[in-house]
Amino acid sequence: MSRLVVFSNRLPLGSSPSGGLVVALGRTMEQRGGVWIGATPGKSGTGQHTLQSYEGASFDRHALHLPEGEYNDYYLGYSNSVLWPLFHGRTDLLDVEEGQLAAYSSVNRKMAEASVNLIQEGDVIWIHDYHFIPLAAELRKLGVNNPIGFFLHTPFPSSNNVRAMSHKEFLLDWLAAYDLVGLQTQRDVSALIEVCRATFGGQLLSDGRIRCKGQDIWAASFPIGIDAKTFRQTAETQEMTSPRIDPGQKLLIGVDRLDYSKGLPHKFRGFQRFLEDQDSESERLTLLQIASPTRENVEAYQDIRRQLEQLSGEVNGEFAELGYMPIQYIHRAVPRDYLAGLYRRAAIGLVTPLIDGMNLVAKEYVTAQDSSDPGVLILSESAGAAEQLGIGALTINPFDPSSIASAIRKAVAMPLTERIERHQAMWDEISLHDVYWWTETFLNRLDKNASSRRKRSRSIADLETMLRG
Ligand code: UDP
Repeated sequence: MSRLVVFSNRLPLGSSPSGGLVVALGRTMEQRGGVWIGATPGKSGTGQHTLQSYEGASFDRHALHLPEGEYNDYYLGYSNSVLWPLFHGRTDLLDVEEGQLAAYSSVNRKMAEASVNLIQEGDVIWIHDYHFIPLAAELRKLGVNNPIGFFLHTPFPSSNNVRAMSHKEFLLDWLAAYDLVGLQTQRDVSALIEVCRATFGGQLLSDGRIRCKGQDIWAASFPIGIDAKTFRQTAETQEMTSPRIDPGQKLLIGVDRLDYSKGLPHKFRGFQRFLEDQDSESERLTLLQIASPTRENVEAYQDIRRQLEQLSGEVNGEFAELGYMPIQYIHRAVPRDYLAGLYRRAAIGLVTPLIDGMNLVAKEYVTAQDSSDPGVLILSESAGAAEQLGIGALTINPFDPSSIASAIRKAVAMPLTERIERHQAMWDEISLHDVYWWTETFLNRLDKNASSRRKRSRSIADLETMLRG
């Protein structure tokens, strides 16, 4: 079986993998052999553009060390101040500075140059996320003809948002270098087709390829899953061992990186609206919101932090009583295993991003529930997960606080039979389409596309020989 070479910005460095993606890719690499390559800022700004290897995992790991300034322009700059807001429909937050695109392109080129010698004939290459979109094109320039797949973990932008991108034609060249572009949802595939049609005059071919300006893009949706069975077991054991947060009070749980795409202020406003409408005799509800810090050097992230601290203070100021604090706002990361136990305790999972590629927290919340007395998932219709979990979740419009408030009311009043029915429908979907299904389906499809590309190039070469002869 062919070896798997994975690229992602962050290299999994812990000795025991925690996230589902790392577990799934790690397991695949254990079976077929593999290499994982990431990027990191060089210590004291003396990046060498060489790969450093790390021992201690069942697969090989290497990191490209970059000078700190270059890493910042590529990571905080182009990746997170241009591509991230653009892909999340926040063109108002674009912070375009000269030199960022050049740094992004150059880091991708250096990554290709540094890693090309590690790639062997027969290897399958899988590149992850928006930090490395140009990497396949750079590897192709160096003569790499292996199957190369890409998976975008964020949403794909609409043609309106792509219009705001300088040098948007690059996007087409970057994507066309892949044998397969994997997106989270059907919504994203439609967005890509629309971008190709509206921006580049492209069209959809009968075999599913999108032809734009003489280049082909092969895209399909592969909704990412979680390590469902293991996570369920973790939730069961954690519930026994972790301390209770608010005995006697019904818990709503929210877990998000403190990112403007997650709709946290809207969530707090929605909960505030619910509290305003509640009568004084009703059962007390506490919202436990874990907001883990992220990208704190980017200005837009400092603004959202200030806004949330103010809002939670406002809501608590208005509704807190002795022994009752409506919002517990925790601005730090909590280990994923510990979260499993908290999810299981919470009667309601409140997942309200304004837009999200998938949202794994939604899947984790459902997975962690006790199936004989499960909690209710309230889910934004704009999260990728809504395409799969709309069957059992209460879906809301995250921009409308009254939509959130009325879903909380409905969740609180929902009878056990309905909770069980909704939970079962979601669990069936999550356990069937877990992260192992995702890895296998993507890699099978990549294999097929790459063989078909090779066959087409052989036919073209034969035809050329025939015409010449
Ligand atoms: N997570 C965690 N600790 C935290 C906050 C989040 O382990 O304090 C994990 C969470 O369990 C989930 C992931 O981080 O697995 C977040 O994934 P999601 O798709 O919801 O959002 P993203 O951060 O990728 O936008």
